[in-house]
Parts: sequence; structure tokens; C-alpha cells
Amino acid sequence: MLSCRNFKNGCRVKSTMENAAWHEEICFYRTVKCAGDFFRGGCGWSGPIGKMVPHVLERKCALVLENLQDNCPFVSSIGDFPGEGMSVFERKVPTNWKTVLLWSQQIMRLWAFVVVYRTSGGWWVIYVRSYASDEARKRLQVKIVVRRPRPPPSCPPLAPPNPTAFTSWKAALLTRFTSEEEGKAEQARKVDSVSFHGRLFGPKETPREVLASGEYLCLTDSQVQRFRAGRILFEYSIEITMKE
Ligand SMILES: [Zn+2]
Ligand SMILES: [Zn+2]
Repeated sequence: MLSCRNFKNGCRVKSTMENAAWHEEICFYRTVKCAGDFFRGGCGWSGPIGKMVPHVLERKCALVLENLQDNCPFVSSIGDFPGEGMSVFERKVPTNWKTVLLWSQQIMRLWAFVVVYRTSGGWWVIYVRSYASDEARKRLQVKIVVRRPRPPPSCPPLAPPNPTAFTSWKAALLTRFTSEEEGKAEQARKVDSVSFHGRLFGPKETPREVLASGEYLCLTDSQVQRFRAGRILFEYSIEITMKE
């Protein structure tokens, strides 16, 4: 039996020769770099993956987006700089938003992070990285949708019509009208969003390699301007699923 390569980090797992490589790929004690570390040199932290979440929370290297409802996408939004100062669209240098850790019961073991940045030339790049083993990552896919921020419902839904007040043809007409309206609303939502299906990147792929792959969601300034609602530039949703 072999001791795990991460013994010095605290791992006490012993495995057979065949299983050692498999274990070390998913080991809770394997050394990784801080997930907020891909740009601007980062904080320089590296340590056991199990300690990365406390680290990013303490040092504010990344934000944590928690999802308590399994089977629902992660939803968050990207905002312009606060206050009346400069807007991100006027910047002539790259702008990186804080990396966002996706945290739910279902995917906590994937250590998945959303990366969002705008290049100096006004291109927006959005993709997801996962620290899961290479093998696990190959079986995963991500769906990223960017859209206009949807305000939370502010007015109560209309009261249902009193059935006795409608003759059957009116009711039938109403049903048709409603479904047509819903169809139009659905159409509008489709036009008002951009989506991407693709892979997740590993911790070792550099931002340059990600760009060269072409496998990320890319938007122009003018697309983002279309989604914009006040200081909120766009809303995004992320869904990570197993490939069929
Ligand atoms: Zn181990
Ligand atoms: Zn850090």
C-alpha cells in the first residue's frame, strides 16, 4: 500500500498502486493555487484544496455564490462601478470581476468558479473553471446564459377570472390570447439572451490558453449595453451537468 503524495498536507489515505493515481487526482489535500489567482498576479496563496474556500472567504480573493436549490441554475449579475464615476465601458485596460465560487450540495466537490472579464478592447469573456480531476471534468458540461436582469416580481399576479362570468367561447378566446402572449414573451426572452454550451477549464489552463480555445461565452460592449438595466449590466445563469 502506498501513502498519498499529499501526506505532508495531512492526507492519511493509503491506496494500492492502481488506485493511487486516481485518489491523488481527487484528494482533498492536493495543493492548488488560489482560485482568485489567475489575473493581476493574485494573492500568491497555494495550499490544500480543502482549505481554499476558507482562504478565499477570509482574504476576499473570490466571492461565493451559494445555491440551496439543487437542480436550479446558479444566478447572479454583473454591475458597473458603483456611484457616478467612470463606467466600465470607458476603460482602456482589462477589467476583471472577482472570481465567483459556485457552491451547492450537488457540485461542491467540483470546485467550480465563474470567471468574467472585459478586455481593453471591449470584449467580454465568461467561462467556468473546475478543480475537479481531469477525468471528472471531461464528463461535465456547462451552460452559461447572459440576459437582461429580471426584476423580482413586484406586483401580485392578476386574480383569476370568475369562471361563471365567461361563456365558453370567451374562455376559449382568453386561453388562446394568453398562450399567444406568453409565446411572444418567451420569444422576447430568447432574443434578449445569449447562451453558451461547452466545457469547463482546469486549474492549470492559462487565461491565454482559454482564449485560444474559443470555448467560452463572448460578448461585445454593444451586446452588454443591450442587456443593461441601470447599474446592473447583465444577469447570468450557470448550469453544470453531466454529458449524456
Ligand atoms: Zn490524499
Ligand atoms: Zn487568494
